[in-house]
Amino acid sequence: MRIGQYESANTNRPWCGVSTTDETVVNLSEAGAQAGLEIPRATTDLLADWQWRRKAELALEYAEETGTGTYDAEDVTRVAPVSDPNKIVCVGLNYRDHAEEGDNPIPDEPVLFSKFPTAVTGPESTISWDPNLTEKVDYEAELVVVIGSEARRVSEDDALEHVAGYLVGNDVSARDLQHGDGQWVRGKSLDTFAPVGPELVTTDELEDPHDLEIWAEVNGDRLQESTTDNLIFGVDELVSFCSQAFTLEPGDLIFTGTPPGVGVYREPPVLLEDGDEVTIGIEGVGELTNTCRFD
Ligand code: ZN
Repeated sequence: MRIGQYESANTNRPWCGVSTTDETVVNLSEAGAQAGLEIPRATTDLLADWQWRRKAELALEYAEETGTGTYDAEDVTRVAPVSDPNKIVCVGLNYRDHAEEGDNPIPDEPVLFSKFPTAVTGPESTISWDPNLTEKVDYEAELVVVIGSEARRVSEDDALEHVAGYLVGNDVSARDLQHGDGQWVRGKSLDTFAPVGPELVTTDELEDPHDLEIWAEVNGDRLQESTTDNLIFGVDELVSFCSQAFTLEPGDLIFTGTPPGVGVYREPPVLLEDGDEVTIGIEGVGELTNTCRFD
């Protein structure tokens, strides 16, 4: 399933839906209500219902039979598929090729940091910042894990059972703030600095999350290109590792780290400017494109 959140002209709040084909989106709570099922409007609330897969499948069957809650993809706007996670966990230096590029030793354990959830934005939206606050804004292509059920002290073997699916993410970073503060949270958490999308691809759709091409393009130039096979700590290790320290909850996001080629370490550096278009792509998950704007 490809689960997204959408806005349509007939309602003033986004709703959670499933992209059933390239042309069609089904509003789960609208189709579900007609089928006698209570389905929440937000993805985080949907995932918190342990029966969510079954309910979503029933709503989709009903929509297919009756057309209820079915929208033309052209008539809806895609917003962030998960818009209000309780937390966003990020992993530093997690690609073997990235570590080798910078002559960094391979870490023994994941290095975690965080972005504030208010940084989340969606596909089709802008990444914006005040050029007086930061002059060094950079992109980072990342596979993002979406937690599907509460995980506390889970083993690596059980970890993937707690994953709902995956998103394409861009860990946008204000390098001057990140490196100047002695602490990364401000530089990583500006509003709009966590674009995710286009849709949450559920785990059953991806044979192996550790064998996916991943890339970043700025104005059409490919600047990052790797595969998730280069991840030092895989999704199962990351979920288990995090859950030893804190509870992961439905809708929580884990940004799993970025491959080589980020702008600040390039010769000459590539920093994002007003009007730039950044596309992050992951094989089987999709492409996420955002335009940059000074504000
Ligand atoms: Zn990152």
